[in-house]
Amino acid sequence: DVRKITIDGPAGAGKSTVAKILARKLGFLHLDSGAVYRAIGYGAKEAGVDVDDESAVSEFAKTVNVDIDNGRVFLNGKDITEKIRTPEGGVLASKVARFPEVREKVIEILREIAKDKKVITDGRDAGTNIFPDADVKIFLTASCEERAKRRYEELKKKGFNISYDEILKEITSRDNQDKNRKVAPLTVPEGAVVIDTTGKSVDEVVAEIEKVVSQ
Ligand code: C5P
Repeated sequence: DVRKITIDGPAGAGKSTVAKILARKLGFLHLDSGAVYRAIGYGAKEAGVDVDDESAVSEFAKTVNVDIDNGRVFLNGKDITEKIRTPEGGVLASKVARFPEVREKVIEILREIAKDKKVITDGRDAGTNIFPDADVKIFLTASCEERAKRRYEELKKKGFNISYDEILKEITSRDNQDKNRKVAPLTVPEGAVVIDTTGKSVDEVVAEIEKVVSQ
C-alpha cells in the first residue's frame, strides 16, 4: 500500500507539473516543498529581514505560519501563490533554504500537513529528509538547457519578460547553490528511481512513474 511518494530533482526538471498530475490521478495530496521555502523567502523580504542573515531569517521562520491548501500557498493566512512563482522567488527560496533552522521548520510544517494522508511531495530533499520512509522515491533530471527552456516557456506564458539566457544563468546558479550547500544538499535519495526527462513529454514521465508506483 503506497502512501508516500517523493519526487526530487533540480530546478525545472518537471517535478511540480508531474506531481500535480499524479496526485490528481492517484487521489493523493500534492505537497510542493519548494513553495514553503519560497513563502518564507518572500515573507522575510517583505518583512525587511536580510535573507543572508542566518539568525534573523531563522527567527523570522519560527514565527511564520505557512499552509498549502488545494494548490494554494498561504503565508500567515494570506494567499501568496502567484507572488512566489517568480524568478526572484526562487532565488530568495534557495537563500533561506541554506539555514538548518529554516529547514527544520519547513519539515515540521510539511509533516503536519501530511499527517494521516496519502501525499506526493516534490522538492530537493523530499526522499532524504522530509519523508525518508517514503514508499516510492523518484529523482527527475533533464539537461540544463531543457530545464531552462521549460522555465522560459512557463514564465513567458505567465507574462514575464525575461530572456532564455537569464533563466539559464539563474537555474545554473541555483543548482550549484542547492548541490553545494552544507545542509541537505541536492542528491539522489537512496533507493530512488532516476528518470531523465530530457526530450520526454509530461505524459510519458507520468506513465513511467505510475509504472514504478504499481510495481
Ligand atoms: O522547487 P522550487 O524551485 O520551488 O524550489 C525553490 C528553492 O527552494 C530551491 O532552489 C531550493 O533551494 C529550495 N528547496 C529546498 N528543499 C526542498 C525544496 C526546495 O532546499 N525540499
